[in-house]
Amino acid sequence: MSNLPKKCLITGGAGFIGSHLARRLLNDGAEVTVLDNLFTGSKSNIYDLLDNPRFTFLMHDVVQPFWGQFDEIYNLACPASPIHYQRNPVETIKVSFIGMMNTLDLALKTKARVFHTSTSEVYGDPDVHPQPETYWGHVNTLGPRSCYDEGKRAAEALCADYIREYGVDVRMIRIFNTYGPHMHPSDGRVVSNFIVQALQGKNITLYGDGNQSRSFQYIDDLLNAMQLYMALPHSTVKEFFAGHGMPVPVLNVGNPGEFTIKELAEMVLEMLPNAKSKLIYQPLPKDDPKRRRPDIALAKELLGWEPRVTLREGLPKTIEYFRTLFNK
Ligand code: NAD
Ligand code: UDP
Repeated sequence: MSNLPKKCLITGGAGFIGSHLARRLLNDGAEVTVLDNLFTGSKSNIYDLLDNPRFTFLMHDVVQPFWGQFDEIYNLACPASPIHYQRNPVETIKVSFIGMMNTLDLALKTKARVFHTSTSEVYGDPDVHPQPETYWGHVNTLGPRSCYDEGKRAAEALCADYIREYGVDVRMIRIFNTYGPHMHPSDGRVVSNFIVQALQGKNITLYGDGNQSRSFQYIDDLLNAMQLYMALPHSTVKEFFAGHGMPVPVLNVGNPGEFTIKELAEMVLEMLPNAKSKLIYQPLPKDDPKRRRPDIALAKELLGWEPRVTLREGLPKTIEYFRTLFNK
């Protein structure tokens, strides 16, 4: 065994999840390279890392091939918020698919282990509840969300083929709505929107009647699962999934605690009692999923993992981050 630090590449590492992951891996002694074109990410997320001699930032677009010798490649590059991925849909589908292909080609040439962040959006507007990994989904292939949903589904298909055809060591997770500090204030996703609106005394924008549900996972729980999964030997991963009749390793990672969007808004206002905000109703975006909740039995069994941070515990930590950001 070599004592050299593990070399890790994180595509999309200047974003919300990637910047947390970079910090974790550095704290564990790894050498970390972040490759990002700052489409939705920000250098402010990684300022504190720039002076670390084990950290490198590369301004690069994953759609263009890249090179380097790494032990582990984490593929996160892709805008994740509906307003941002729909802003430039052709770019979104290219980033998902071509970025994945460039990642897998590099891994194939250099024998790196790959971690791919897929999404609960591959289930679309699910008609099975909760969603297990074996569910094929209910997706509109032509709607405004399809650049993301289908891009991520195609990326999964590509991973499956690189595994089957070339034996590349790939682990995929389908992340369910994750929140926490370092979300961008203009990210547009619901948790950051509601907190920012309440802190700024603006009205809380409920899309539709607010009865659609999501299951919210705090960032630390996601990172724990990612690290446990990536640390497993290739043979363990292969045997586990083969034993479950699944030739390709993919795990749901999320918190099964399910809330309506209205319940979330009420909880945020309860935690910020001085907010002058009222709930206002705006049109529901097209193809907005009605319900979403992960079945996490497989992740529990393989990783001995389950989320620990409830929404009531994670929201105050996230509120505290935005308070500091806005000096409130
Ligand atoms: P984010 O938007 O904060 O981060 C995405 C990062 O990718 C940003 O830094 C952005 O600049 C970068 N990026 C975008 N296009 C790029 C390109 N062409 N080349 C290089 N970098 C590019 O989003 P996030 O929440 O941190 O999501 C990270 C990953 O996790 C995404 O792939 C997303 O699909 C996936 N995911 C996130 C969630 C969630 O709830 N946060 C849920 C499901 C899946
Ligand atoms: N949403 C909302 N108000 C907002 C932002 C989002 O009511 O200001 C709703 C959105 O319509 C969806 C849910 O909250 O039903 C989660 O939206 P988000 O964009 O966070 O994630 P996704 O739809 O991708 O799960």
